[in-house]
This record gives sequence, C-alpha cells and structure tokens, in this order.
Amino acid sequence: MAKCPKCESTTFKLEAVGSPTKSAFIICSECEVLISVMEDIDFRKWYDKLISNHGYFENQINILKSEMKTMSEKHEQQNNYIIELLEIINRKL
Ligand SMILES: [Zn+2]
Repeated sequence: MAKCPKCESTTFKLEAVGSPTKSAFIICSECEVLISVMEDIDFRKWYDKLISNHGYFENQINILKSEMKTMSEKHEQQNNYIIELLEIINRKL
C-alpha cells in the first residue's frame, strides 16, 4: 500500500483544478503534502468511458445480488434445519 513519505499515512485525497481538462493533485489526507500531479486529464473522456463501462458494472452488481440471494436462501434452509433438529431433540427430552 502507498504511504506518505512525510507522515506514513495511507490515506490520500484527490483535488482537481480546471475545466474540462484538469490537473489532479494527489495529496496526503493527514499532512497535506503533495504526493503526485496528474496533468491534462480530460474528465469528459473519463466520464464517457465511465458511462460506457456502466453496463459492465451493472452486470457485476446483478451477479453479486443473485449470489447474495442464493446465500441468503441457503442460510434460511440451514436455519430451518437447525430449528427442526432442535424440535426433534426437544420432543425426545
Ligand atoms: Zn502525510
């Protein structure tokens, strides 16, 4: 993980200046020392790319949602099984 050379913090923030082509400064969140400068970033292009990648991310989110649903169904089945077992044990006591 990247560390600030001055205070060894591992959290950074991004500050952008200018429009639509911007320079972005990566700054340490703790001591505000300048870590790096990224120049002439066209945020409109970034945005367009982001929009074109949107379908991909939406797909990934839907896959995750469906996996979570399956996990939660399995969890419920296991809970019901445990309850059944407990009832059986209870009847025998
Ligand atoms: Zn720092």
